[in-house]
Amino acid sequence: MTNKLKYFIGNWKMFGDINSFKIINIINKYCHNSINLHNKKIVLCVPNTLTHFFNQKLKSKHISLGSQNCHHHIGYGPFTGGVSSSMLKKIGSDYVILGHSENRREGETYNLIKKKVISALNEKLNIIFCIGETLDQKKKNKTFNILRQQIKKSLDKKLNLNKIIFAYEPVWAIGTNKVPKINELIKNIIFIKKESKKIFKNKNFKVLYGGSVNPKNVGLLSSISEIDGFLIGGASHSSNKFIEIIKNYYK
Ligand code: PEP
Repeated sequence: MTNKLKYFIGNWKMFGDINSFKIINIINKYCHNSINLHNKKIVLCVPNTLTHFFNQKLKSKHISLGSQNCHHHIGYGPFTGGVSSSMLKKIGSDYVILGHSENRREGETYNLIKKKVISALNEKLNIIFCIGETLDQKKKNKTFNILRQQIKKSLDKKLNLNKIIFAYEPVWAIGTNKVPKINELIKNIIFIKKESKKIFKNKNFKVLYGGSVNPKNVGLLSSISEIDGFLIGGASHSSNKFIEIIKNYYK
C-alpha cells in the first residue's frame, strides 16, 4: 500500500438536495472509523446550494468541500446568476473545479478559464484544473498538443501555482464507462507532469485521473503510481460507491 498522499475528489455535478446530507454522514462515519487517513484527502465538490449546510455537517479534517465552477469577477458585481470565488470561500469551499469539459463545451474559453483561475487564486482556493482531449482529437493523435495548449493558454508562470492540481479527464471517458488503456493513461499522465514541469520551471504538479472511475476499475488504476488521485463524477453521488472506490484503491 502506498503512503503517498492520494486525493479522492467527488464531483457531484448538478445533483443533490438537502436530503443528500445522509451521504455526508456516511462519509463522516467512514472517516471516523478509519485508522489510515493521513495519506488521503477527500474533497466533495457539491452544488453551491449545499455548501453552507454541508459545511456544518462535516466532522473530519480529512474531508473538505469544493465547488464546481466560479465567476471570473473578483468579489461582488452586477453579474446575474454569478457566484464569485470570494462568495464560495465564505460559505466554506476550499477547492474549485475549473476548466471542466462540460463547461468548456458550454463555451468557456481559455481566456475565461484563465480569469477564473486568477480569481480563485485571489481567494486562496485550491484549483482542480481539468484538461483532456475529445475522442476526435485522440483519433487524430492530437492529445499531447491539446493538453499542452490547455495548460499554456489558461495558466501563467506569475500565478501561485502551488494551489493547482491537474485532473486529466479525457472527454470521451466522462460518464461513458470507458477508461483509457493503462499504458495510454501512464503515457498521458507522465506527459502532463513533464510538460508542466518544463513550462513552469521545475514545478512538480499533482495529476489526478477522472473519467468513469468506479469501485471495479479503481483496482487496476491503482497500479499506476504516477496518478495522485481521482476526480470521481457519477460514482460520487453514492456514498457506498465512493467509499468502495477508496477502499478498493488500497486493496
Ligand atoms: C467528471 O465529470 O469529472 C467525471 C469524472 O465524471 P464520471 O466519473 O461520471 O465519468
